[in-house]
Amino acid sequence: MHKITFIPGDGIGPEISNLAKRCLAAMGVQVEWEEVIAGEEAVKRFDTPLPDSTIQSIRKNKVAIKGPITTPVGGGFRSVNVQMRQELGLYACLRPYKSFAGTKSRYRDIDLVVIRENSEDLYAGIEFKQGEEDTRKIIADIQRLKGSEVSPDSAISIKPISRCASERIFRFAFEYAKKNGRRKITAVHKANIMKYTDGLFLGMGREISREYPEIEFEDRIVDNMCMQLILKPERYDVLVLPNLYGDIISDLCAGLVGGLGMSPGANIGDDIALFEPTHGSAPKYKGKNKVNPTAMLLSVVLMLRHLKENAAAERLEKAIQEVIREGKVVTYDLGGSAGTKEMGEEIIKQCEMQN
Ligand code: NAD
Repeated sequence: MHKITFIPGDGIGPEISNLAKRCLAAMGVQVEWEEVIAGEEAVKRFDTPLPDSTIQSIRKNKVAIKGPITTPVGGGFRSVNVQMRQELGLYACLRPYKSFAGTKSRYRDIDLVVIRENSEDLYAGIEFKQGEEDTRKIIADIQRLKGSEVSPDSAISIKPISRCASERIFRFAFEYAKKNGRRKITAVHKANIMKYTDGLFLGMGREISREYPEIEFEDRIVDNMCMQLILKPERYDVLVLPNLYGDIISDLCAGLVGGLGMSPGANIGDDIALFEPTHGSAPKYKGKNKVNPTAMLLSVVLMLRHLKENAAAERLEKAIQEVIREGKVVTYDLGGSAGTKEMGEEIIKQCEMQN
């Protein structure tokens, strides 16, 4: 029996995350769910978007699955998703992007893995608001220490990149590549401009790569990487990126495999793993029974592999592949007119048939 923390999420979250539970039940995977909340619902009930009880539940069970959670733009509370990854030490974000026959993508045979550093960079949450006293102090310090002129009406965000977090993410990536038979790691950066931060990240990649001579190592500047992925995605295998570029390139890769509805993810630490789709809460589709449940269900596949439930993982992945290949009961982004629920039911039916 697996004990798993379940966070339904908001927006489209509950529609897709409940299907995750149903798939596991259909395949007879024994799970005791512990349901907790985060986001707006938690603000209403506990006066905080990330209650301690939610963090405690994940710490205790060590495995969690969550639906997407809305982050207010430009104000309101800090991203619960970022906060959760930081508090739980989930330093590696793993996102596989694989072509499925039947999707509307312009590309075939995509097989890429994005490994995003999750704990620092511009996502560290160190920001100074325009016009505040502390911001004026920071601007004065920059002038004093670096002699650089920063407009006094600026807001400031700090980008920390550390030696230890860079080493940790590259080690994670090389170990992942070794265990999963991947051939090459590409470090993605902008070290030509950010010589100290991205330079340190790249330097650690080079250093760790010497311990893994069997895996090819190369690097690309992030803007060039965007173009290369559109022109020749087949040349790449595992991409390792600092937090911000990782977020952006993830969506680009999602576009290569048919969109965000096809893109699963996992946030992994030393002993805790949290599984969630790459996409957000798509508020415009909330309650409309519209979105593709695949990203969520492929995140379940990743979770099953993590739990060493390999047979169930294969079965669910095959069921998803079959439903998309047939193309009869699929959502709008896959060229169909089925709802989330109907596509989910079809996948569950396929899972049962493969028993
Ligand atoms: P989004 O990923 O929610 O949606 C962008 C667009 O992608 C949607 O409008 C839709 O056209 C498409 N899309 C997304 N999921 C889909 C699916 N399953 N099937 C089909 N199409 C799908 O991005 P956004 O609109 O920029 O963000 C909405 C909210 O989600 C924001 O508050 C953001 O902060 C949050 N967010 C949360 C997470 C997370 O919980 N991990 C991740 C990203 C964004």
